[in-house]
Amino acid sequence: MVCCIGRLTWSPATGRAPQDRATLTGSVITAAPSADADAYIPAMALTCTDILTQTPQGLCCPIGGFHIDPVRPVERALITHGHSDHARAGHGAVLATRETLAIMAERYGEGFAGSAEAARLGEERRIGEVTVRFVPAGHVLGSAQIVIEAGGCRIVVSGDYKREADPTCLPFELVPCDVFITEATFGLPVFRHPEARSEVQKLLESVALFPERAHLVGVYALGKAQRVMALIREAGYDRPIYLHGALERLTELYKSEGVDLGETPKATGARKSELGGAIVLAPPSATQDLWSRRLPDPVTAFASGWMRVRARARQKGVELPLVISDHADWEDLCRTIAETGAGEVWVTHGQEDALVHWCRTQGLEARPLHMLGYGDEEEGDLGASSRPEHPPDAESRDRVEADPAEDSLEGA
Ligand SMILES: [Zn+2]
Ligand SMILES: [Zn+2]
Repeated sequence: MVCCIGRLTWSPATGRAPQDRATLTGSVITAAPSADADAYIPAMALTCTDILTQTPQGLCCPIGGFHIDPVRPVERALITHGHSDHARAGHGAVLATRETLAIMAERYGEGFAGSAEAARLGEERRIGEVTVRFVPAGHVLGSAQIVIEAGGCRIVVSGDYKREADPTCLPFELVPCDVFITEATFGLPVFRHPEARSEVQKLLESVALFPERAHLVGVYALGKAQRVMALIREAGYDRPIYLHGALERLTELYKSEGVDLGETPKATGARKSELGGAIVLAPPSATQDLWSRRLPDPVTAFASGWMRVRARARQKGVELPLVISDHADWEDLCRTIAETGAGEVWVTHGQEDALVHWCRTQGLEARPLHMLGYGDEEEGDLGASSRPEHPPDAESRDRVEADPAEDSLEGA
């Protein structure tokens, strides 16, 4: 599908995207080349694919003049959440929740986009020919679904989401819709996440059982790290939780947003003896490299939905797999689709085919989008989680390389 956005100019002052008619060929507007779009579009029977289409850059709303979570630089981007496969630097204008903008600024530097505007949750705004609002997705701090409406059709782009309670972010809010666009990271019936609280209990039991050993927990830097810490605190553990340097900045950001994570000193500053019996959090890659040698006889744990697959845990050398995921499991994916009442489901990334098949057995229209570029640095692709992040500009490259021993990996 051809995308029109590259030739549009966004004008935030008027809140409208001027439309270059020639570039809209192929969309609904083609039928009336000389008509004024404002007067014309409401009269047309818009289909949902006129409102949102798939382009190489990502999902595109031609009549709104924006992309959602584009994987390449675009004029105007609406961003669901701060994971680096969804939130990339280099767009002309970005609209996202205040927390997502703060996360992007933290990772990429203040100049991550030409301009940035904070979207208030629940607040409707007109963009081009559509109405848009952001609604909590329950995935990580600031994560939002994006609801788009035009011509009586409502589409929900859920981004990444989960239904389980998470003390570090607002809960997922169900929005009835015509088209529901979902991820499918854990879109196979085998994926049933246990309660995160009970997984954290396993960790604390192990800490009690091996008081001389450090417990090294692999966690993604954005969301998982802070959620695991919050759950550990909820369970009543009040000793310091030591952090790998790559987890510090985002953890500070969560704290500054009012998430109470207790004392979280840097592991590199601690004496080896101090770390005996301690809980240490690190990005997944650091749990297996030289960095972890500073820890006394560590028990290696890993908090991820993929730990449901024992072979994966073994392959990663994980002694204590903790099945804690920031994505919906199979049951919650199916339940959410059913609860939205959507007649049509588009599946963006993950195990698309199984979920599409399930939708069809329920009499729903469904299609896999097989979108490329998502899941690269989070739970969606565990194998890739050991690759260093590719900084988008010189400034963040310098920041990443400042401490080569501590890469800045992340994920869900
Ligand atoms: Zn994510
Ligand atoms: Zn994702």
